[in-house]
Amino acid sequence: SPTGAPDRALSSPASPNAESGPGAGAKEGKVKIGLSMDSLQEERWLKDRDMFKSAAEALGAEVVSMMANGDDAKQIAQAETMIKAGVDILVIVPHNAEATATIVRKAHSAGIKVLSYDRLIKNSDVDLYVSFDNEMVGELQAQAITKLVPKGKYVYIGGADTDNNAHMFKQGVFNVIQPLIDRGDIRVVYDQWSKDWLPANALANMRSALAANGSGIDAVIAANDATAGGAVQALASQGLAGRIPVAGQDGDLAAARRIVEGTQTMTVYKPIRLLADKAAELAVKLARGESVNADRKVNNGKIEVPSVLLPPIAVDKSNIDETIIADGFHTREDVYKFA
Ligand code: BGC
Repeated sequence: SPTGAPDRALSSPASPNAESGPGAGAKEGKVKIGLSMDSLQEERWLKDRDMFKSAAEALGAEVVSMMANGDDAKQIAQAETMIKAGVDILVIVPHNAEATATIVRKAHSAGIKVLSYDRLIKNSDVDLYVSFDNEMVGELQAQAITKLVPKGKYVYIGGADTDNNAHMFKQGVFNVIQPLIDRGDIRVVYDQWSKDWLPANALANMRSALAANGSGIDAVIAANDATAGGAVQALASQGLAGRIPVAGQDGDLAAARRIVEGTQTMTVYKPIRLLADKAAELAVKLARGESVNADRKVNNGKIEVPSVLLPPIAVDKSNIDETIIADGFHTREDVYKFA
């Protein structure tokens, strides 16, 4: 309950040794996981899908995955298909934080648990949330940029309003800059969401910010590397790329190259393998009715969702070799190709 009740035990109501009965089917035989994805638009999601699949398979599970192309009705219909096909658990990357609550309801009435992957499903009884510390993502961005630009005019290029993460990222940024705003050191002269995380929408946003403020802008924080790419493109068309610090996140290859070239200041790297491995491990446990260790709680508007939040890593020119490249997230050759 949202009122501070003791931690919800995540084990199934049936005893771990039960032979049969509701929810016990997955204990015998192969666990079948339904992975429902929003889109594969950003580079990371292919890694998420492939790494999750191989991690789950290594644990003896089978994964069916579907991708909704940013369409809420489609994501719900695909989840229903997987429920009907008899998956033991659903792992959801929601396009729309609110709309996907329907999936949780439908899964639960079929006795299937739901794991919210990377993005939180809001206002639902979702069973588990596995992600990075998304507020910390924004904090790392703002810490890096305020170190370079302690005073001045800031532009915030947000992500998709429909994605809870976009709100967490922004919250993190403002955790850091609000005291500087209050002190009169920083002024946020532009702050808009970029619908569906599209770089074209971020480009349009950055153009509007430039049109309203000219070259008076001192720093740009963009919610991810795709939107940072749009922002840098708008800056470049005014000869400003590389002159104004820009922050992004994801460790996309294009962003890594921009960092090496100097048109983007930093990115926030989230080691996807750790997320995929953790989510696969916990999904299999949930499906088998085993209890799961989740040390954090995140309020989703309805309940305190048991959560596992991994730490994100700030990356700039100085540590790109020992993070993104050392991890094999991108090869050194790929990153420095155009430098
Ligand atoms: C993810 C980011 C990603 C964005 C767009 C967010 O929910 O956390 O890593 O860039 O969605 O897909």
